[in-house]
Amino acid sequence: MLKKFFSWAKKDNEIPREVDTTHPDVDPAMLYCPQCGDEYRAGIRQCHVCEVDLISGKEKLAALKEEEKMNGERSMEISPEDRLVAIRNGKLRDLKPYQVLLARHTIPALLTGESGNCSKG
Ligand SMILES: [Zn+2]
Repeated sequence: MLKKFFSWAKKDNEIPREVDTTHPDVDPAMLYCPQCGDEYRAGIRQCHVCEVDLISGKEKLAALKEEEKMNGERSMEISPEDRLVAIRNGKLRDLKPYQVLLARHTIPALLTGESGNCSKG
């Protein structure tokens, strides 16, 4: 039994947005917990829940932008030049959750049949 399943998770619907409008929920004047993301008024130094030092909205925005920049540079397309790494062997239906998980982190994954023979046809 040979199963072949190729899937490219595409994010074509995600249009690149203007930088400063990406996070209207983050107010540079407010303070934020880097762990749980809770918002605090100026003057408060620590998150009551996590007991970690708060970061300013500015810092949070900078961190978010940095993260997006890194994600934006990554493509969900797998090209023939890409080096593929086998991370898991098993039944396809057991592997599907891994692909979903990787896609969530903008990492393209390929599920192939057990023969490993990817020739067309
Ligand atoms: Zn917190």
